[in-house]
Amino acid sequence: MQSEHISGGSTLEEDRRFLSLKTFHSAGRGPWTGELDADWNDWRWQMKHRITSSAQLQRLLPTLTSEELAGAELTNHKLALGITPYFFNLIDSEAPHCPIRQQVVPRAAEAQIAEWELSDPCGEDDHSPVPGLVHRYPDRVLFLVTDRCAAYCRYCTRSRLVSNASGYDFHPEYDRQIAYIAAHPEVRDVLLSGGDPLLLSDEKLENLLSRLRAVPHLEFLRIGTRIPIFLPQRITPELCAMLKQFHPLFMSIHTNHPRELTTEVRTALERLADAGIPLGNQSVLLKHVNDDVTTMRALVQKLLICRVKPYYLYQCDLIAGSAHLRASVRRGIEIMRELRGHTTGYAVPQYVIDAPGGGGKIPVNPETVLSHNADRVVLRNYEGRVFEYPEAADAGPIRRARKIEEYEFI
Ligand SMILES: *Cc1c(COP(=O)(O)O)cnc(C)c1O
Ligand code: SF4
Repeated sequence: MQSEHISGGSTLEEDRRFLSLKTFHSAGRGPWTGELDADWNDWRWQMKHRITSSAQLQRLLPTLTSEELAGAELTNHKLALGITPYFFNLIDSEAPHCPIRQQVVPRAAEAQIAEWELSDPCGEDDHSPVPGLVHRYPDRVLFLVTDRCAAYCRYCTRSRLVSNASGYDFHPEYDRQIAYIAAHPEVRDVLLSGGDPLLLSDEKLENLLSRLRAVPHLEFLRIGTRIPIFLPQRITPELCAMLKQFHPLFMSIHTNHPRELTTEVRTALERLADAGIPLGNQSVLLKHVNDDVTTMRALVQKLLICRVKPYYLYQCDLIAGSAHLRASVRRGIEIMRELRGHTTGYAVPQYVIDAPGGGGKIPVNPETVLSHNADRVVLRNYEGRVFEYPEAADAGPIRRARKIEEYEFI
């Protein structure tokens, strides 16, 4: 049976690896053992003490390779180098392929740009009616709040603007962004992203959310953020109490490897969930980071323990200088095949490719419908067994245009 190595017949070594990936640990203090608790647990202290230069990296990471050092030296012109002390402590300095290290420590390979790679791989700038707003889908917009993040992911799809190391000079204009939304009643969903919206102070974020909530046709708000992972100290009770006023408010976090889910992160996520914020996760499929089923299964199961629903698994965008981090679509489909049916349905994300050039997110699924005609559908289940479902007759064309009043709450 194809699935043997993850269900009954896994090797002892794989079992051990799986269990150790699923365990929650604290990031610890590492080189910052002497700091006061009050400082270490203060998100502004963490931001102030970020690792941002090749000299700091050399000092703190004795196993830094010449390839990484060369990568760090590129970052003044490309995506900046930035790692919070908290997240730095998750790096296993003895392991050259440490999955945490590969996400945030630059490498010289970032300078190698393949001909199909782009600085704006999803064509966001072409779908931008006003600066900082991307209106690609009919009923929702992406609202870029800032170009700063707590730490910088080497495969960032928005590295053209994020951190401003390439001179993009991003200046969000909230007034114009909000005016556009207010003038477009078809927009019912706003996704705040960036950069990381949770880097704003509570006051600034509250002000922005209030202005959005004042737009009567906005039904749904969400925040895309990696702060719970890079900087869990930012998820304070005060922040949660503020966010709670703006329901329905969802949050999409971003984590790629189960070791990112520490006890600190779990506490932060529980706080958000207790504030009534439904949590989803977005992962990027990355070579040598999470492109194997053991790692991915540990990640999605650990997310459920933290009350987070795995939402999307992204094929890595064709961002300039990211070839060394991109896993194949074939591998992505294989992993999805080993998740569906083998673990809790809630744990299974949707695998998507954000189409190059601006086609939006396109689902990519393992083949389960083997054939489909007027009489029957032939299906393959998670064990590879084949089943038939007799096709039903439809009543007529799909009913679309119901009056919107029929759906109002009374
Ligand atoms: C991903 C994305 C959204 C949100 O898409 P959902 O499938 O609703 O999560 C909206 N706008 C843009 C430009 C996006 O890239
Ligand atoms: S947190 Fe998100 S926006 Fe920031 S660098 Fe990482 S992927 Fe890019």
